[in-house]
Amino acid sequence: MTTSTVSLGSRFATEFPELAIGWQAETPPRPTLLLLNEPLAHELGLDADWLRTPAGIGLLTGTTLPASATPVAQVYAGHQFGGLQPRLGDGRALLLGEFADGRDLHLKGSGRTPLARGGDGRAAVGPMVREYLISEAMHALGIPTTRALAVVATGAAVQRETALPGAVLARVAASHIRVGSFQYAAATGDTGLLRRLADHAIARHHPGCVEADNRYLALFDAVLTAQAELVARWMLVGFVHGVLNTDNVTISGETIDYGPCAFMDTFDAATVFSSIDSWGRYAYGNQPAITGWNLARFAETLLPLLDEDSDTAIELATAALGEFAPRYQTAWRTGMRAKLGLAHDNPDDALVDELPALMTEHQVDYTSFFRGLARGDIPLGYMEWVQRWRKHSPDTAAMNAANPVYIPRNHLVEEALAAATAGDMAPAGALLDAITDPFTERPDLQRYALAGSADFAAGYRTFCGT
Ligand code: AMP
Ligand code: MG
Repeated sequence: MTTSTVSLGSRFATEFPELAIGWQAETPPRPTLLLLNEPLAHELGLDADWLRTPAGIGLLTGTTLPASATPVAQVYAGHQFGGLQPRLGDGRALLLGEFADGRDLHLKGSGRTPLARGGDGRAAVGPMVREYLISEAMHALGIPTTRALAVVATGAAVQRETALPGAVLARVAASHIRVGSFQYAAATGDTGLLRRLADHAIARHHPGCVEADNRYLALFDAVLTAQAELVARWMLVGFVHGVLNTDNVTISGETIDYGPCAFMDTFDAATVFSSIDSWGRYAYGNQPAITGWNLARFAETLLPLLDEDSDTAIELATAALGEFAPRYQTAWRTGMRAKLGLAHDNPDDALVDELPALMTEHQVDYTSFFRGLARGDIPLGYMEWVQRWRKHSPDTAAMNAANPVYIPRNHLVEEALAAATAGDMAPAGALLDAITDPFTERPDLQRYALAGSADFAAGYRTFCGT
């Protein structure tokens, strides 16, 4: 394999000059490959051994690309913590192009772009390894997500509170089109651009919409369904995204932008990890409602496409948005029935609906609770509920296939990131082994199944954009 045999198109760059700024990645002084996702490389038709060579690392850092590629910084807007930023975009990221299967190859930490605002364009090893670990854990849990292809240390220092080693993450995604991309396109007032973006999103992610009478209403409905199912999946595994701004909501329905995200240990709807989310806007329990809010922002952008008459467009959008809550609830209940070993069409909604309050009251470790139930290891406080549950003859083998043993526990993630920052990738590798095969219990990995200490959990904070 050589650079010129890598199939990397420039579809987005060519079709959307209004949303793309041609730009080059910074050349890292001493690039060192820290993590390489061999199964993903294989899926993409990339030779893993070649990716380890200087030419392969050149691809993974955007410094040597096939002639077909046109790297760009993507422009988008976004509501950040509720306030609209009309021009955000890739300040430290680049879209390198699209693989033959349509997926994007994208870099994070590849240097300042014209959209960098005050930022330095760089990323530190710790946060890029964090995105690698958590996104691969999500993938292994069966949750739609962007993937991590590689982390390359740059050899340059990044100044944060202290000087940290820098890194570039190579990320693969169905696309990087976000609600914020539509917000930016809509704000230009160019309905032709908006329509092209919507048609592009339909072709790439929701091709069935072309059959509908109103394909843009169908697009909205498809994104709403994908996002309702996605946030239900997060809730079912205890994932807290942490920064659910509209620029971090994809049209494809993949989880994107692993910044201050973390998994909850003790069940509590108010769980917040992000140091800047002091109001709890993006707390665990608020994620469904905030996703509904973000979808309302998406609907606003589509109004000019929904109907020529603006009152009719608003009526259509409002009615479609009303589907979010029931679809989310259906997705969550269906998932919770699977976690409880109940039949897909079990009619006892009260049994699943009562569980969050019980888990809160008894301060259960959310992940291990379900495996414990399947083993018959039941906290006494649940006896009344448990007796009702048992009457349904739950399928415990099915429960073990639906409930992970291993999630990226916060204390283990921090241990792996601290070691990676100090140059030791072994803890990250060991954690990755556990969390990329999350449902198979292995006796030698018991440490990876346990929550951290209560003291650790009480003080645990995560940080954005580092
Ligand atoms: P994120 O929190 O990663 O979604 O980033 C939010 C916005 O800030 C995006 O537009 C990023 O491109 C930008 N950004 C974050 N960190 C940096 C940085 N170090 N340099 C330049 N831009 C950044
Ligand atoms: Mg982002």
